[in-house]
Amino acid sequence: MITAQDIERLHAWRAQGHPIVSLYLNVTPPHPFVSELNSLIHYHKEQWNTNKTNAFDKAQRRALEELLSRIEHHVRALERQLDGTRLLAIFASADGFWQEYRLPVALPSQLVIEFDPYIRPLTVLLNEFDRYCVVVTDARKARIFSLYLGEFEEYGGVFNDDVPSKISVGRGVRLGGPGVWGGTGELRIQRHIEDHVHRHLKRVAERTFDFFTQKQSDLLIIAGPEDKTLPYLTNHLHSYLRERLAGEFHARPDMPLAELKERALAVARAWERCYEEQLIARLLETAHQPKGLAVLGVEPTLEALMLGQVHTLVLHNNARLKGTVCPTDHFLSSYLERCPICQGTMHHTEDLADEMVEEAIHQNAEIEHIFTDHDGFTPHAVGALLRFR
Ligand SMILES: [Zn+2]
Repeated sequence: MITAQDIERLHAWRAQGHPIVSLYLNVTPPHPFVSELNSLIHYHKEQWNTNKTNAFDKAQRRALEELLSRIEHHVRALERQLDGTRLLAIFASADGFWQEYRLPVALPSQLVIEFDPYIRPLTVLLNEFDRYCVVVTDARKARIFSLYLGEFEEYGGVFNDDVPSKISVGRGVRLGGPGVWGGTGELRIQRHIEDHVHRHLKRVAERTFDFFTQKQSDLLIIAGPEDKTLPYLTNHLHSYLRERLAGEFHARPDMPLAELKERALAVARAWERCYEEQLIARLLETAHQPKGLAVLGVEPTLEALMLGQVHTLVLHNNARLKGTVCPTDHFLSSYLERCPICQGTMHHTEDLADEMVEEAIHQNAEIEHIFTDHDGFTPHAVGALLRFR
């Protein structure tokens, strides 16, 4: 699970005299990423041997070489377990620092070795994904989870409140129904039980608020049985949380983890699809206005990107675009063989979309990957909301 604290730790990381390796490896099939990593490492070693600036001393270079071969072994061993991962990011230093991230979106592979970790691409890409807080409760028990990038993790275990289901009124007579809500008993006793339930749900709402803010969550999903639990819980939620409610589902806290995860994921996917639809509707509408601040399709988007006009780059996550890229100044084109800036020869790439993402990150633009098909957008594959034109 990637936590906000991990990122802070990474930001705070300034190795004491140790260079830091920042590796972004595009592992999207059919990328031959092991050999790509080899050539990136080879390139760096060449630089050390030919470069007279000597950024690293002899001992540092030796430690780096060892670290790079450890990374290489690690990546080789991962080869079969990268299901759904498109980008592997590793930050490591010779004195034992190691952080690894797996992302479902891609970037061109790159290896950076400096005294600071190269974090910007990671944070920009991570910002795209919502962190959900998921609370599953019934009238007595509650569990709280975090759902982020497909990982579902529980915090704090089962939270249990002592809510009576029946109340003894003497002579062995017990009143109260089978569930806490379904009472057949006296109204007064039913009310007593409901008071307990309300106190429980109030505590659940408070805990949820603490957890939500502490984990820097973006959205909330609530779950409970098909009775009054969810409407009652909603009433207890802080308005800050109610505004961030992404949806709800029916479940009980004692359900298997896999089942809860599946149901929470379905709610998250529905919410994300809805978000994508709104974004695309805005993009299409603006692009069709005369002088509207949006473009659609590869050529207009490339042009806007090269002119620094892009505010938000929108692209289908399965977009595979061919094009050319200038190795000197990162000029991108879908057909040019010669760079209009430096007149150098452009390199061919099968990953023009990933190059566009990298360029957008470089320009401080926002990125939105579209994960599902939408009739109005899929044929265009890319588009952008613009700052100006
Ligand atoms: Zn150039």
